[in-house]
Amino acid sequence: MHATSAAKKLFFSHALLPGGWARDVVLTIENGVIGAVADNSSSAGAEIVSGVALPGMPNLHSHAFQRGMAGLTELRGEMQDSFWTWRQLMYRFIDTLTPDDVEAIAAYAYAEMLEGGFTSVAEFHYLHHDESGAPYGDLAELATRIASACVETGIGLTLLPVFYNFSGFGGAAPVHGQRRFINDPARFLALLQRSREVVKPVQDAAIGIAPHSLRAVTPETLMEVLKAVPTGPIHVHIAEQVKEVEDCIAWSSQRPVEWLLDHVAVDRRWVLIHATHLTPEETAGVARAGAVVGLCPLTEANLGDGIFEGPRFVEAGGVFGVGSDSNIEVTAPGELKQLEYSQRLRHRVRNAMTRHSAESTGRALYEHALAGGAQASGRSIGALAVGKRADVVVLDDTHSDLCGVSGDRWLDAMTFVAGKSAISNVYVGGKQVVADGRHLKRAEITGRYRRVVQRLASL
Ligand code: ZN
Repeated sequence: MHATSAAKKLFFSHALLPGGWARDVVLTIENGVIGAVADNSSSAGAEIVSGVALPGMPNLHSHAFQRGMAGLTELRGEMQDSFWTWRQLMYRFIDTLTPDDVEAIAAYAYAEMLEGGFTSVAEFHYLHHDESGAPYGDLAELATRIASACVETGIGLTLLPVFYNFSGFGGAAPVHGQRRFINDPARFLALLQRSREVVKPVQDAAIGIAPHSLRAVTPETLMEVLKAVPTGPIHVHIAEQVKEVEDCIAWSSQRPVEWLLDHVAVDRRWVLIHATHLTPEETAGVARAGAVVGLCPLTEANLGDGIFEGPRFVEAGGVFGVGSDSNIEVTAPGELKQLEYSQRLRHRVRNAMTRHSAESTGRALYEHALAGGAQASGRSIGALAVGKRADVVVLDDTHSDLCGVSGDRWLDAMTFVAGKSAISNVYVGGKQVVADGRHLKRAEITGRYRRVVQRLASL
């Protein structure tokens, strides 16, 4: 006899399936995966979930620990503040973070993600070593803590150990504030190997790699790592800042995305995080390569990065998803709204990210971000369809902003009006993790987080 887990059935009066809106939908779930989808079905034998079922949104870019410094950098310094002055404050914040702190902050961020409609996270994990910059006894100590936070909260995981080797283009030596990030290729590959072990407790976890940025590697060390890792997603921060573009040109005579497209076989494994400052040729080149652009609109606004060229990329058939990056505010609909509003302000038009008349902006944004987020995760997620993980976000169709509408208007109302308050229940791999808008372990996770941030604030 071999063990089989009983199939679980969830019934929804309405669901967004790959072919569009469907009524009276039953999802049959086995071992966290959707085994059957039936519409116009009876609810007999199924657990009836009231509300509208959407595929859960993948979060394609997070630095979980940065949730702990949200709100602490909104004070003008002596010089004009920028991404670079923010980075100095971030380096100071991590000076004293312990493994327990990292786990507590990550659990809090992940619980918030689930409440905010993100059912999985691609964690761009670059905090590797202890406070002195020495490796922990277990190279992947802090990756273990990320995995534990995922197990506790139930969120899906793509772990992206970050390869961070240098501080500037051309192999500039790391600065003191970067000591907890730094590895040479050999130690990075050992860390990656160990990371594959430590994520095993997280159901269906995937592993990719993340060369931090072109300024954090040299062409030689980048190629060495890429050669050693022939499969899985590859995420990289790129062209986020004008100064980064200028420094790249000074080093190579090429812009960052131009350099990458010229020197590396960029394909569907690649996820270009931010890609804010692109020429029309670079935008077309990224779309042609099939790489995902990872947009983090709330963080990009917070850091004053600039605005991605959205309509041009969509017109070229480009693939994008969204991430919460610094976790200054954690909400899937909020990221989509900020994305659209930035484009409206930049181009002085409305419904900027749609392609044809009568297309709903809420639905267009949601479906684009599902597809891009799923591709970026390297996991079978992003749709209510056979073979995909049963990651489901349920909208409360009795919410005052949703009760008078249906179909695509639900997504418009969630994105532009109600925000995450429209989200009632959330399931990951068929298991409920959020009820009535609150994570099931919210009280204990929040208590631990409060103790950590209060201690950090007193240092
Ligand atoms: Zn980032």
